[in-house]
Amino acid sequence: MAPIVFDNSFAGLPGQFYTHQTPAPASAPEAIRVNRHLATQLGIDANWLDSEAGTQVIAGNAVPPGAEPLASVYAGHQFGGYNPQLGDGRAILLGEILSLEGRRFDLQLKGSGPTPYSRGGDGRSPIGPVLREYVVSEAMHRLGVPTTRALAAATTGDKVQRDELYPGAVLARVASSHIRIGSFQYFAARRDIDSLSRLSDHVIDRHYPDARNSDNPILTMLEAIISQQAQLVARWQLLGFIHGVMNTDNVLICGETIDYGPCAFMDQFNPDQVFSSIDHAGRYAYRQQPTIAHWNLSVLAQALLPILDSQQERAVALAQTAINAFPNQFLQANTQGMAHKLGLQTIEEQDTELVEDLWQLMAEHALDFTLTFRRLADLANEASDAECNVADLFEFPDTVRPWLERWCTRLAQESTPSTERQALMYRNNPVFIPRNHLVETAIVAANGSGDLSPFNELMDILENPYQYRKALAYFATPPNPDQVVRQTFCGT
Ligand code: AMP
Ligand code: MG
Repeated sequence: MAPIVFDNSFAGLPGQFYTHQTPAPASAPEAIRVNRHLATQLGIDANWLDSEAGTQVIAGNAVPPGAEPLASVYAGHQFGGYNPQLGDGRAILLGEILSLEGRRFDLQLKGSGPTPYSRGGDGRSPIGPVLREYVVSEAMHRLGVPTTRALAAATTGDKVQRDELYPGAVLARVASSHIRIGSFQYFAARRDIDSLSRLSDHVIDRHYPDARNSDNPILTMLEAIISQQAQLVARWQLLGFIHGVMNTDNVLICGETIDYGPCAFMDQFNPDQVFSSIDHAGRYAYRQQPTIAHWNLSVLAQALLPILDSQQERAVALAQTAINAFPNQFLQANTQGMAHKLGLQTIEEQDTELVEDLWQLMAEHALDFTLTFRRLADLANEASDAECNVADLFEFPDTVRPWLERWCTRLAQESTPSTERQALMYRNNPVFIPRNHLVETAIVAANGSGDLSPFNELMDILENPYQYRKALAYFATPPNPDQVVRQTFCGT
């Protein structure tokens, strides 16, 4: 039996959507890690993937039967400026797989050599960005955030030149699809209405089949994409996750988080926090993310105008109404998520102020984002097990006490038993996130001596982000001043 059973649909689209491209070979591939659980869900034999033969496929040395490797084309606004031609410059789509549940997924290799869209780049990836994406995307998945996944990673045995030479690596990435806002922009900018329609049909069939039954499937698709982005960015905000490079080519139509280049979870709360080394203006700062998502969606709506309605004025009105729904959808998702983080089952008008005041205090005292909420969860039930609380790692300063009292008063308005409330809070406030300094430590070890044990240890811990054990305190502890990582770099 074929090790991977492909069922390709994107490759059936006409040639203007992609270029056929085989991965470049790697000189001495070695496995970094295999996501056995995900492989099994995808109907891939995990033992095969973990074998020499599997590593050869991940590293790009063998194209498995049924794969139709290609690089897709797209455009996009990068930091606000339109680039008419981007594309998979260091990624190759091997094909699509139907999971055991019948869901369709792309299997893509990232870092497997140049393509026609490399624009002078080498199409390669150093091991650092591969490990970062592996750790953070899998952590996001465990945190319940829609995201691309990491199926496996391998080193290539070749060096990659950046500021210095680094070991090269390939990540096998899985996504519901890799179609982006920029994929639509590419054809819209060329006034290629046929391709725009073909792409929309493909997206509706694949991601929003219910839209088929609506009077205006394109509008329904657009509305669904908007709503998914509102949910997604609310999840990011509630976790202190900063994407870092929310360009329109990095927004997936399927609503999954993609591109873990300059991303990071915040330690100390600062709404203006930016990590990306090239984001000098703070365009993609934490507090900007909802606004930028809204802006990105308006770019999508704009691209869809020619097929939203045959009459331009009507198309514009439909697009505008759809786009205008975003702020409220985001607010609702964010408010609901915040209520759960604070242990509330109901939402009252006065909660807005309670929440705003907490953000204010967190910013003023530079409180650790993750431990602030986790500590609140500890405090929600006086009878809770001290073994499971983070009091050793974090305590509120006295100046926060009045706020804590207000919070307690608000909690008392609900009749939820405190054990139940605490369980709700523990489910919504993780204790283990991929802290930047831990990710950095894992990368440095791999770069230096090829030691993957810090990476593997971190991966194992992040499998259970909500379950605290004091023995693992180190992984829940914010960085010392000398461990703080202030910048992350684009994964190029
Ligand atoms: P990103 O900033 O990761 O979203 O990438 C932006 C664009 O640059 C995409 O079209 C990538 O395919 C391309 N790109 C990034 N890194 C490389 C590389 N090392 N070689 C070729 N193309 C790249
Ligand atoms: Mg990208």
